[in-house]
Amino acid sequence: MDWIRLTKSGKDLTGLKGRLIEVTEEELKKHNQKDDCWICIRGFVYNVTPYMEYHPGGEDELMRAAGSDGTDLFDQVHRWVNYESMLKECVVGRMAVKSAVPKDYREEKKVLNGMLPKSQVTDTLAKEGRSSPSYDWFQTDSIVTIVIYTKQKDINLDSVIVDHQDDSFRAETLIKDYSYIIHIELSHEIEEDFSVRVVENVGKIEIVLKKKESTSWKHLGHPLENHNSLIPKKDTGLYYRKCRLISKEGVTHDTKLFCLMLPPSTHLQVPVGQHVYLKLTITGTEIVKPYTPVSDSLPSEFKEPVLLNNKYIFFLIKIYPAGLFTPELDQLQIGDFVSVSNPEGNFKISQFQELEDLFLLAAGTGFTPMVKILNFALTNIPSLRKVKLMFFNKTEDDIIWRSQLEKLAFKDKRFDVEFVLSAPTSEWNGKRGHISPALLSEFLKRSSDNSKVLICICGPTPFTEQGIRLLHDRNFSKEEIHSFTA
Ligand code: FAD
Ligand code: NAP
Repeated sequence: MDWIRLTKSGKDLTGLKGRLIEVTEEELKKHNQKDDCWICIRGFVYNVTPYMEYHPGGEDELMRAAGSDGTDLFDQVHRWVNYESMLKECVVGRMAVKSAVPKDYREEKKVLNGMLPKSQVTDTLAKEGRSSPSYDWFQTDSIVTIVIYTKQKDINLDSVIVDHQDDSFRAETLIKDYSYIIHIELSHEIEEDFSVRVVENVGKIEIVLKKKESTSWKHLGHPLENHNSLIPKKDTGLYYRKCRLISKEGVTHDTKLFCLMLPPSTHLQVPVGQHVYLKLTITGTEIVKPYTPVSDSLPSEFKEPVLLNNKYIFFLIKIYPAGLFTPELDQLQIGDFVSVSNPEGNFKISQFQELEDLFLLAAGTGFTPMVKILNFALTNIPSLRKVKLMFFNKTEDDIIWRSQLEKLAFKDKRFDVEFVLSAPTSEWNGKRGHISPALLSEFLKRSSDNSKVLICICGPTPFTEQGIRLLHDRNFSKEEIHSFTA
């Protein structure tokens, strides 16, 4: 908030009195000191000197990109941060494009922007023995069908994200670490809702659009940015759509279950173990934070299943009274909008293959990724013998969905839950303290000596780091541990 206040103060933060300049590489290199630090991100140069003391990762972290193109570094650490909005008062100008080498200019610029030149992408795919996806379209009087041929077998409804917003129709298909993008301004109007179908064994995706008028379309439309291209996923940028707040329900004294509804013109399913970014404009600045969607509840025979048709996304979110984002989120009224990004994260369903023992270590809201994992594992993995959750909290009042967890453990003999409290009252009879070798040795009992194991861990960063160290000490391999981080 202090930084936002400074950006609104009218102070000259670039030292250029409002002028924008073209910055050469030579010029950029000169500004590499703490008291004179310029950084290039995606072709724009920022004077980050005034931001130094506000950078959550500290000055040294920011200095790693001083006087250079920090796009890659930025993408590795927190590409979701909306730097354009946070640093808009610090823009010095654009990087100058090298005019001496016209032939290579485009590739040169793409590299600078943190993007792989297309030939490199195709080369990488070719090396991996994969051919590029393509698309086609056809029509009847009432519908237009866009067909995407991914040429991959492991494609499902989670793999494609479709949005029709204003004049833009965009379909992003996730193929391993790449995105294949269809992005067009359609030539004619369509109805708001559409359907998406996947023929899994041939990797074909069909998007069926309803025409508003039954005229024959001569062409599909005009290409927009990145249309018909395959780019590394990390270079696609975050794409948002506005979702309506449908309900907000207290779960503990400080944690709430939020339900957001996707627009009818969006197809988006958040895969198990992945998160999205929520975006709100707070005092004129766009603020973005990551959150992990959950199911609306844990599986229970006492509850009627609700037909949710994938239009709703649920979040368990802890409100920090002194936080930047969550108090604003909590202030929203039913019917208000929040922007929701495409999903991200590196958890893969294939990690469940042949799994026998699943151990979940969660602290506080680090429980959120465990919700879908628990639901998915208990309903879809026939080899599964045991699922154990060790859930660390400060007090009993902080435990999210305690009675649901206890009911699930009662109902499903494969599932056990243990609560560990760091600040319990004197009446607490359960386990106490922090994650430790003693707690883990008792908890991590395999169903058989060589059983296939996966351990998932999530919580405050020091908790997760400590947990990973202890798991390595107990000789669990990297492949057997999945930690959730930003
Ligand atoms: P912040 O402004 O970040 O502040 C949080 C707390 O830290 C407050 O108490 C504040 O007073 C204190 N604080 C802030 N700055 C300082 C400082 N300089 N010194 C000391 N104290 C400080 N959270 C959920 O609730 N649910 C989820 O599903 C969820 N999923 C996540 C998924 C991922 C991948 C990650 C990385 C995080 C996730 N989080 C989740 C956490 C979430 O992204 C936010 O960090 C959290 O909501 C706090 O945001 P905030 O802006 O309200 O608070
Ligand atoms: P919290 O209530 O502050 O803490 C939960 C438990 O963790 C408490 O028992 C706490 O003990 C313990 N703990 C804290 N620091 C520890 C450490 N260094 N070593 C061992 N135990 C420690 O947690 P919260 O406020 O809900 O925060 C949850 C965190 O999870 C946030 O940082 C959030 O960003 C993260 N999260 C990440 C993801 C993800 O990466 N995918 C998803 C969801 C949440 P004390 O009483 O001693 O503090």
